[in-house]
Amino acid sequence: IMAGMGLLALLIATIVGHILSGKAMVPLKAAYEKQRQFAADASHELRTPLAVVMASADLLQNDPSIQSPFLKQVIEDVRDEVKKMTKLVSDLLVVARSDNKALKIKPSKFDFGAVVAQTARLMQPLADQKGVALNAEGLPKVIIQADEQKIRQLVLILVDNAVKYTPSGGHVTVEFRKAEKGKVCLAVSDTGIGISKEDQEKVFDRFYRVDKARSREMGGNGLGLAIAQEIVNLHQGTIRIDSELGKGTTFLVTLRTRRKTKGNPLNLF
Ligand code: ADP
Repeated sequence: IMAGMGLLALLIATIVGHILSGKAMVPLKAAYEKQRQFAADASHELRTPLAVVMASADLLQNDPSIQSPFLKQVIEDVRDEVKKMTKLVSDLLVVARSDNKALKIKPSKFDFGAVVAQTARLMQPLADQKGVALNAEGLPKVIIQADEQKIRQLVLILVDNAVKYTPSGGHVTVEFRKAEKGKVCLAVSDTGIGISKEDQEKVFDRFYRVDKARSREMGGNGLGLAIAQEIVNLHQGTIRIDSELGKGTTFLVTLRTRRKTKGNPLNLF
């Protein structure tokens, strides 16, 4: 009987402790939620004035009465900065919203190979300009069920980074690698600057950049890989880095080709 009472007391203490600690968490959670909502609202509200500034700068750029090379340069600089800020604001909106557990994906069936090839092609002009060889040919047809728009964003982030962090004369290769049955593995590899072991753990953190000056110069804000990770998580996939400093980097993304059967509480499809 004594042992039973002891057990009961322990059980009650555990339950009470649980409830109390849960209560203590409530203000913290509410504060966090408020901050997240603020970031989401602020970035959303900044989009309209930025669009207005951009439209005005466009107007000025096309105004034949402005002939001064100095003024033309000023207008060009304004446009560049507004473009950067628009990207930052839209990236911020994605990460602020992604903290919201209600974020859902809109799945559809599509050919992953074709989407990867099309997205990689968008980076071709930049690669040509830099003198980086971009190879994303011959990807086989692989039908997946996923959020096509988000998958495009994911591929663009990885290929964009690969081109950005590879010096002239280097190569970027986009291909599929062997994966388990029911999965597909996308590899984006480059012969660029590489990422040290220590930094490999941090590059998925928001706003983390190995070399701030270099990244800023390339138009980076340190949110790309945080978004990439988020998109992969939403699809219950994995993203891995294989890299050697000074040699190059490979990002490996593994996604399921088929939806999981029901009964999985994490199933978002
Ligand atoms: P950024 O906008 O700065 O590129 P990301 O979140 O996309 O931000 O990447 C974070 C950091 O990881 C980059 O600033 C860069 O230092 C590093 N990085 C990302 N991709 C590569 C790559 N392919 N090769 C070398 N470094 C990379």
